[in-house]
Amino acid sequence: GKDPRFVPTLYAQVGKPGSWTLDYYLSHGGYEAIKKAIAMGQDAVIEEVKKSGLRGRGGAGFPTGLKWSFMPKNTGKQHYIACNADESEPGSFKDRYLMEDDPHQLIEGMMIAGLAIQATKGYLYIRGEYRRAYDRMMGAVKEARERGYLGKNLFGSGFEFEIYIHRGAGAYICGEETALMNSLEGLRANPRQKPPFPAQAGLWGKPTTINNVESLCSAVHIIQRGADWFASMGTEKSKGHKLFQVSGPFKRPGVYELPLGTTFRELLYDCAGGPTEPIQALIPGGSSCPPLPWNDETLDTPMDYESLVAKGSLLGTGGVIGIPASMSMVDAMWNVTRFYGHESCGKCTPCREGVSGWMVNLFEKIGTGQGQPGDVEILENMLDQIEGRSFCALADAACWPVRGSLKHWRHQFVDAVEHGKAVERAGSRWG
Ligand code: NAD
Repeated sequence: GKDPRFVPTLYAQVGKPGSWTLDYYLSHGGYEAIKKAIAMGQDAVIEEVKKSGLRGRGGAGFPTGLKWSFMPKNTGKQHYIACNADESEPGSFKDRYLMEDDPHQLIEGMMIAGLAIQATKGYLYIRGEYRRAYDRMMGAVKEARERGYLGKNLFGSGFEFEIYIHRGAGAYICGEETALMNSLEGLRANPRQKPPFPAQAGLWGKPTTINNVESLCSAVHIIQRGADWFASMGTEKSKGHKLFQVSGPFKRPGVYELPLGTTFRELLYDCAGGPTEPIQALIPGGSSCPPLPWNDETLDTPMDYESLVAKGSLLGTGGVIGIPASMSMVDAMWNVTRFYGHESCGKCTPCREGVSGWMVNLFEKIGTGQGQPGDVEILENMLDQIEGRSFCALADAACWPVRGSLKHWRHQFVDAVEHGKAVERAGSRWG
């Protein structure tokens, strides 16, 4: 990044030998932020995080400090902090290395959140496929517990905190926060009605806050360095820095930590080394975000919440996917639709029948060269019938990329239907 105030923090230790041990963490200033937070007290911690402007890094960008402030105080009930580490959005793989290489950073982030919301228990819900992340987090929690960094009366302050780790079993819906809670409770992972929001009635009906891995890790540095430091980076409404991910045909795909408001051009050329073949579309923030055409206008767009909404897309998780020009957009969207269709929990009709049924079947028909005139209009009509009508965001997530593709690459869909030619299947090459 070009911002001189920017120092990589979240990923500062990623890739360093032994970075996951407690001794390594302590030798790099570990567990100083929680001590500071304890001295500051609950209200000051929430205020600091509010002042920093940190917005939820799971994708939705809801202000983290505000979310913490929704928690009721002194209820006499058990409060919970749950960390959503079910990172499953295609194109997103930032939380994984935070857990693998800096697990104590996340433990400390959960402790700070716990202090802020009066939660003495934290649940860490890790995507089942993230075996190494699970092993490293288990090792780190064990080490922290054994050496007095988790448990009762921490640092002699009276503050107590314990972490329980749960592995998912491979269902994308478990990352939806209310489905995640059901899964933790041993129920089928169907989303719950909101409101009540988790702060009112969460895990086992008790006040609960669910935060993403990166959000919690960011809180460590906000407490340690101050809200002003964090807020000095980024844009007016999208403050701080974030982890961006690059996948697709680029020289150096991977995770890059940059201030919000950095342009796609800086990410994809300066960091990722540029494309290795012509690109036609960019998905800005994980597969649910509408793709944008690969051109100067898109490349010069700052990667922040507002700029992407202004372009008709979303920042999401910051998982940038390049779709090569050699790939049919019909094929790319067929692949995305198959994914959402497969992952729908089946609870509500628009998603079960609409996404898993109608949309998947129509893509199959068009993609295999059996499309008929009018099918593109039918697809558009389906999006109108599904979007905004489902129980949770999964069906919307299935509609947005297809709608975005029809906006910019409608001709490819029309072409597939008119020529009745099966699209070349290259779906396994990306995502
Ligand atoms: P959302 O906007 O409904 O909620 C975001 C957060 O804000 C939730 O924690 C919610 O409880 C809270 N919130 C929102 N309004 C509130 C209110 N009025 N009062 C109290 N709390 C409130 O979004 P969502 O459905 O949780 O998530 C959708 C996002 O998830 C998408 O933008 C997508 O990018 C992202 N996503 C990420 C992954 C991943 O792997 N990281 C996977 C799928 C989707």
